[in-house]
Amino acid sequence: MKKADRIKKYIRTAAAVLALTLSVPGTGMAAGPGSGLVTVGPGQTLLTGTATPSEMPKEWGVVRTADKYSYSDMEQDIRELQAQYGSRMTVNVIGTSLDGRNLYEIVVGNQNAGKHVMIQGAIHGREYMTPLLVMKQLETALAQYDTGRYGGISYASLFDRAAVHFLPMVNPDGVSISQFGLQGIRSPELRQTIEEAYRKDLEEGRTEASLDRYLDYWKANGRGVDLNSNFDAGWEGLNDLGHPSYAGYKGPSACSEPESMALANLANRYQWSLVLNYHSMGEVIYWDYEGNKVQEQSAELSELVAGITGYRQIASSGGGGYKDWLQIKESPVPSITVEVGSVACPMPRSEWARVWPQNEQVWAAVLSWAVTH
Ligand SMILES: [Zn+2]
Repeated sequence: MKKADRIKKYIRTAAAVLALTLSVPGTGMAAGPGSGLVTVGPGQTLLTGTATPSEMPKEWGVVRTADKYSYSDMEQDIRELQAQYGSRMTVNVIGTSLDGRNLYEIVVGNQNAGKHVMIQGAIHGREYMTPLLVMKQLETALAQYDTGRYGGISYASLFDRAAVHFLPMVNPDGVSISQFGLQGIRSPELRQTIEEAYRKDLEEGRTEASLDRYLDYWKANGRGVDLNSNFDAGWEGLNDLGHPSYAGYKGPSACSEPESMALANLANRYQWSLVLNYHSMGEVIYWDYEGNKVQEQSAELSELVAGITGYRQIASSGGGGYKDWLQIKESPVPSITVEVGSVACPMPRSEWARVWPQNEQVWAAVLSWAVTH
């Protein structure tokens, strides 16, 4: 679309949003900005207060966008998807977070075919657009199972030859802290640890924010360990903060946390064709690590996903990450880290207008890659 057309379209969209926010039909009430969803017809909704030059994708099905797509939203959606597509999906719990939340794994496809693909999101709490993305990919796979195709091969045939394991939220405590602050945590001990992390970070000048603002940026798990610095890949050599923090604390030992342990155990349970790790932000793909035993395959995967998303590829040095460990472990796994979104975390709902179209096809592409390799 030409720039002038885009601007015209934007003005039209903005005017439509304005008209709808002025009055909510049938209620006689005025709806102000930020009032959320306005129903405009059966099964149709329009987002208010989020008009951006890029159009929000049409909402359909069970999984819907939210300002804060939460752990309980996800649980409810998993239940509804199960009611609708039960025979097509298996719901497993691969572990429990420190604050008692389930680490869900939803499997679609033939688990006896010997090929397994993992797509995981939200190892970092504040990156909570990624659970929404992984859940919508799951719903798309289920809804289009019989009709969809990728690269000329039907989804049904792809799923006959491989299984996709969707792990939408591997750090649910971190997500809850970023979304709801201390209220998001039930355990008094964990709350204390979190408040202590804040005091230390204030003292050391790692933050100047208020407690509430500080918690918005929370990346770590429920006790202040950065799970993506907690894996046994150059862990010894990583800088040691020496105390829990919202970000960057590698923990007392490699895989010290129940969430990282659950991921490591799952990685060792199957022969994986690939693991795709969703993070945000930056619209980049990290595909390498020192000592990568599956460099060629990781590079190929990265090329494939870059071709679809338009994201820039970076060979990272990193260390301590799930991807890093997967690439160097005994029976290594081709793996990439895909950073979605163009604005800082936590990202506004409007960013979905970029994230979804860029990533809608990615699950099918990597599934097809697994089947043909
Ligand atoms: Zn991240």
